[in-house]
This record gives sequence, structure tokens and C-alpha cells, in this order.
Amino acid sequence: MQPSEKALVPFVSVDHMMRLIHHIGLKPMMAGIADYIRDDFARWESFDKTPRVASHSQEGVIELMPTSDGETYGFKYVNGHPKNTKDGLQTVTAFGLLADVASGYPVLLTEMTILTALRTAAMSAVAAKELAPHNASVMAMIGNGAQSEFQCLAMQEIVGIDEVRLWDIDPAATAKCAANLSATGLRVVPCRSAEAAIEGAQILTTCTADKQHATILSDNMVGSGVHINAIGGDCPGKTELAAAILHRSDIFVEYPPQTRIEGEIQQLAPDHPVTELWQVLTGAKPGRTSAAQTTLFDSVGFAIEDFSALRFVLDRIQGTSFYHPLDLLADPDDPRDLFGMVMRAS
Ligand code: NAD
Repeated sequence: MQPSEKALVPFVSVDHMMRLIHHIGLKPMMAGIADYIRDDFARWESFDKTPRVASHSQEGVIELMPTSDGETYGFKYVNGHPKNTKDGLQTVTAFGLLADVASGYPVLLTEMTILTALRTAAMSAVAAKELAPHNASVMAMIGNGAQSEFQCLAMQEIVGIDEVRLWDIDPAATAKCAANLSATGLRVVPCRSAEAAIEGAQILTTCTADKQHATILSDNMVGSGVHINAIGGDCPGKTELAAAILHRSDIFVEYPPQTRIEGEIQQLAPDHPVTELWQVLTGAKPGRTSAAQTTLFDSVGFAIEDFSALRFVLDRIQGTSFYHPLDLLADPDDPRDLFGMVMRAS
């Protein structure tokens, strides 16, 4: 029995996603996702929001990230296992789904390991565009793993940086990142320490993976006037910045109930003032107000960003060969005769 067309769900595999990226172009695709994020953050109040549902273990975390705008529902499954790379596995893998709220039927199932890297980079750049010093041109990239090249290229495309200064405790990661960025138009400077990497940088991105309260940036390393884009602290007990930096920064977050559990601000009092980024993007609250201000985007990754990225992919695969119609939903001729459909299959 052939399933009807309405029961076939477009499935975007890893191979499809890579072909879609090459079809659109990596930087235009991140810029496109950034536009979708801005659109969705502008209608922030129309979304169902909840901190993501996390299942922690000794080695890592598995999370579900749901949201809905009333018409479309989306979720992402994502893990974070910093020790995985030692076994040849990735720290972060993900897949995601969009569904039609009216029928509950899925309308898209897609890989999201690659898409998460694009959306996280797009989100960083959307925030930095509002918060980084005017004419920022140099970024320190601390942690040169899977996310790093995407972060550098989104900042080049959307914020206009032209130099990245790389540092990782593993020289092989820095060498990989530098080689991958060699033909991108960025000036790439591998550095011998975090201190050397932040020299002359207006944007400091921390994107390390370690399941502990780490101190990637200590207080004396950070001068005033910079923008910190802190990505790697995204779980209880997993942070990257010395608390003293937080106390002298203006802190911008995605969704406070989630960030207070997972972000750098887990180190602060639960009522420490923070600004929600969507309010900056809508003009309701100011972003950077002076050259001396130290701004911090305490990024943890929120479901609405994944929803935006999923919407972008669904829109772009229409009429292309970048998906496979997946026989995911049982589709009996008589919707109440599921049993009969199973028996007839014998
Ligand atoms: P990865 O494991 O591929 O890379 C992490 C890199 O950090 C490695 O190269 C490692 O050597 C380096 N590192 C570890 N400790 C360091 C230190 N003290 N100083 C300098 N470098 C150090 O991981 P990834 O996929 O690139 O992810 C990086 C981090 O970003 C993870 O913690 C992940 O959970 C987080 N992340 C956050 C978001 C978000 O939306 N905020 C999205 C995706 C990933």
C-alpha cells in the first residue's frame, strides 16, 4: 500500500543539508537564518516558551527544545557531550521537526547538527550587530572546535569583522580552524594563549566545551568596551567566564528562565538584572549605549532560534531535490482502521 502524499514528511538528511548550503552559499544562508531569527524575535510574545527539557548524566546532557507560534510547532533534540570528541564523536548532534498545529501532522524532519552550527552563528551575529562596538573588526575566537568557523564567518558576513584571532588548548583544533578559514577573506591569526588572542579584539567569542565551571576569560583579561559572545557555558555547572566579568558587564540573554539555569548568569543572584535580546531587536530596550560599556551576550541557545532555522529550511526546500519524502506517518484508508491496515499488510 502506498502512503498518500499528505502522510509523507519531507526529510532533510545530512547530505541534503550540505547540498542546500552549497546551493544557497554558507554565508548567505546564515544571513537568511539571521533574518528569520529577527522576524521571530520581533513577534516574541506570540510564542509558547519554556526552558528546554534537559536530561543530565555524568558525561553530558540530552535536551528537547519545543516552541509554537500557534500555527506551527517545532522542537529540536540536541545533546552536549564534551568528552565525545576523544571517541571520534561530536560534542553536539541534533535533529528537529516542524508540525502543523491545526492537524498535528509533521511538515518537516531534518538533521540539525549542521543547522545548529549555522543558527548559533547567525544568533551570535544578530546579537553582536546590536551590542558590539561600532566598527568592530577583530574577533578573538576561543575554542576552535565544530562551531568555530561558522561563528567567524557569520561575524564576517553580518557584523563586518575582517580579522579572527584563534586560541584553543588543542593546537590541532586551531590548525584545523585556520586551514578552514584560509580562503574566506578573513585575516586569520593563530595565537599561543587566550591572552594573545584577545589582544586588540573588540569581540571576544568563547566557544569551549568542558563540563565544569571553567575560567576561559578571567577578570583581568577583559578590558572595558568589548563585546563578549559567550557560547560554551550552556548547562548547569558549565560556564566559561569569571563571575567578576559578569558584575561589570551589561548582560543580554535569550529567555531568562532558561539562561538563569544554564548560562553564565547561573553564577549570579537569581534577580541580577539582564536585558532580553528580543527587546533590543524591537527597539523597546537599548543595546550598546556607550563606547566604554562592556556587553555580554550570555548565549545558551533557545528554541525560537531553532524554529526560525527550521522555517528557513522548509521555505528553501520547496520545489528542490534537497529532501526525501519520508513514510513516517501511518495512513490507513479509513483513519479509524489502523488495525485493519496492519493486518492487511501480511
Ligand atoms: P567542540 O568539542 O567541537 O569544540 C570545543 C573546543 O573547545 C575544542 O577544540 C577544545 O579543545 C576547546 N577547549 C576546551 N577547553 C578549552 C579551554 N580551556 N581553552 C580553549 N579551548 C578549549 O564543541 P563545539 O561543537 O564547537 O561546541 C562548543 C561549545 O558550544 C560547547 O560547549 C557546546 O555545548 C556549545 N554550544 C552552544 C550553543 C548555543 O546556542 N549557545 C550551540 C551549540 C554549541
